[in-house]
Amino acid sequence: MASVVVVGSVAYDSVETPFGKVEDALGGAATYFSVAAGFFCDVQLVGCVGEDFRDEDLALLKSRQIDLAGLEKMKGKTFRWAGEYGYDLNERRTLDTQLNVFADFNPTLPQAYRSSDYVFLANIDPALQLRVLSQVDTPQLVACDTMNYWIEDHFETLLETLKHVDVLLINDGEARQLTQESNLIKAANKIHQWGPSTLVVKRGEYGALMFQRDHRNQASIFAAPAFPLEDVFDPTGAGDSFAGGFMGYLTGTNRSDPDAFRQAIIFGSVMASFNVEKFSLERLKTLTFTEIELRYREFKRLTHFDDFAHWRDEVTT
Ligand code: AMP
Repeated sequence: MASVVVVGSVAYDSVETPFGKVEDALGGAATYFSVAAGFFCDVQLVGCVGEDFRDEDLALLKSRQIDLAGLEKMKGKTFRWAGEYGYDLNERRTLDTQLNVFADFNPTLPQAYRSSDYVFLANIDPALQLRVLSQVDTPQLVACDTMNYWIEDHFETLLETLKHVDVLLINDGEARQLTQESNLIKAANKIHQWGPSTLVVKRGEYGALMFQRDHRNQASIFAAPAFPLEDVFDPTGAGDSFAGGFMGYLTGTNRSDPDAFRQAIIFGSVMASFNVEKFSLERLKTLTFTEIELRYREFKRLTHFDDFAHWRDEVTT
């Protein structure tokens, strides 16, 4: 089976939402991505953890057949992130970020990872993203995520990374911050010029928009709603599980045509919708592929409408 290389944070998160809180729960962009993508394809993880990383968390990743040859155990503490949400779950406040072992992480990719065609640069220092990418021989599809933390302080390095990226997956706030444009179509046009021919804008409970330019520079847009859920407990990891479903599907099917990209957006939305139903990775742990398929089909029904038949005479002027 084809595999996707991912670099990003493997973390312990402390999260509070109006519906509860968790402390030092398993999280991290690469963790959510890997577990979600693992339903569709093989995953080769690049990252690091500290001496405090729990055996049970390692066991979970191993049980998902995620290749951990690129996950280094380093002296020090695992990356930590703390955040909180109010009743508007689209609004997140970061309370604390401790890079810990990531501050000194200098990855060397295992030989088996270097021939991979698919790469996901999850949210992490863009310098690290570049270092990983430079070690992959001839990637066919490179996708990338980032966040305000890196846009603010590492803008130039981020632009350098984007030159080598095909798909940028970010949320609407990040798209506006990155481009200094409030209109998302204008933001997409700017981002296309920087490198990525596809921009996926994640809009939390409002779904996702995909802006693409084909090889003739023709623009197209695809819109998907978020799956309507009655109970959303914790949006943390929604973006990364979305990316996992999206890249996992493209990798697993080895396709990159426009129809496959649209299906990938729906598989991304499906994975994100499951992830937010519980804290940390609790929902992804029990998820089955049958549930994924069922929700994909529910998505199809949710968004399907017929073309209209003419029901009145042409209006003539
Ligand atoms: P998201 O999918 O956007 O909700 O990502 C949430 C995950 O991102 C959390 O599990 C955090 O551990 C991780 N995270 C938060 N801030 C950073 C950062 N500055 N660098 C890398 N990962 C981060």
